[in-house]
Amino acid sequence: MINVSKLKKGIVLDHITAGHGYRVFRQLGLDKLSDVVVLMTNVDSERMGKKDLIKIETDLPLDFDVLGLLDPGITVSYVENGVCVRKAHLVLPEKVTGILRCKNPRCISQTEDVEPITFHLVDARTKEYACEYCDARTHL
Ligand SMILES: [Zn+2]
Repeated sequence: MINVSKLKKGIVLDHITAGHGYRVFRQLGLDKLSDVVVLMTNVDSERMGKKDLIKIETDLPLDFDVLGLLDPGITVSYVENGVCVRKAHLVLPEKVTGILRCKNPRCISQTEDVEPITFHLVDARTKEYACEYCDARTHL
């Protein structure tokens, strides 16, 4: 018997869109693990109504790009001794202002004194953002 509610050590993938759990499970190759993996579907959620949840009783390197592409709303919690020690969110911001710099030498932002540039997310998987002035792409 495993205790589903109390995980001693491992990873919890929470807030998976209801019905997506099995796909996430397969995409991450969890069916090939020899450790205990629990897939729960249609769990009641205050925020989402219903959600899926995966508990993995081991530490394993997760492909966050795959996860983010599958379902950017997933919350990843790392558990040690029954306590969540770290949480990771997959959601990339739709736009970032003042963090990225445009690399295009012909961009107006290189010569003019413009407001902090806003970049818009164009590809969440590759974390590519586009400059608001020239549309040149850059990575986060
Ligand atoms: Zn630019």
